[in-house]
Amino acid sequence: MVKAMTRGIAIVLCLVFLGGFEEPYVRKDRAFYEKRGEIVWEVPLEVKKIALTFDDGPYPETTDPILDLLKEYGAKATFFVLGNKVERYPETVKREIDEGHEVANHTFNHVYFKDAIKSMTIQEEIVSTDRLLMELTGRKPMLFRPPGGFYSEESIRIAKQLGYTTVLWSWHKDTNDWRSPGVGHIVRKVLNNTRNGDIVLLHDYIPGSSQTVEALKLILPGLKKQGFQIVTVSELLHDKAGAQMPIGL
Ligand SMILES: [Zn+2]
Repeated sequence: MVKAMTRGIAIVLCLVFLGGFEEPYVRKDRAFYEKRGEIVWEVPLEVKKIALTFDDGPYPETTDPILDLLKEYGAKATFFVLGNKVERYPETVKREIDEGHEVANHTFNHVYFKDAIKSMTIQEEIVSTDRLLMELTGRKPMLFRPPGGFYSEESIRIAKQLGYTTVLWSWHKDTNDWRSPGVGHIVRKVLNNTRNGDIVLLHDYIPGSSQTVEALKLILPGLKKQGFQIVTVSELLHDKAGAQMPIGL
């Protein structure tokens, strides 16, 4: 009896200890944010759909050939654009919208949300691009990707308040195309070990490199051959929401 009580007290003390030290020493992990739907890394689905995402544009030299290829293969993509480039190349963003792609927010100046970044800066970076896209396309962008994938509780909170879901990418689908690792490397990264609902990270602004465009010429037919439909991130999220809806609703 005494032994059982002692054990009970020990467990309670242990829980208090763990609970008491959970914050701020333990950074909230992927499961925490994923469960709350505040950050999306990928969207596991029954259907064979996958999302290609392109960051840091628009940049006509690369974005236009990418759009040509997407059109050729009947694929839809998500472009995480930078406000300062939207100002410079609004026609390219219009083309993305006209051709059925999703345009999403990637800040105005590609600022990393880390270290001592001020809440005001996070807010301004998201809002200025949001306004620009609203004026240009007449649509409210729904998705936000923080540059470099750096996020904090504060950035998640601000993005959410501004009507955004923070979207990163599948950990096994980071192509590293911005480092120009070779067309073969980019292609293999996308075509191998592909799962339904994967979110692939690519870039349409890599000055002096055409590897992403060249890789896409093999990626698009390759994914089609595997039976994948190439869709926007919002479509993946929409499918997931539909699958979770109780039957009859
Ligand atoms: Zn970026």
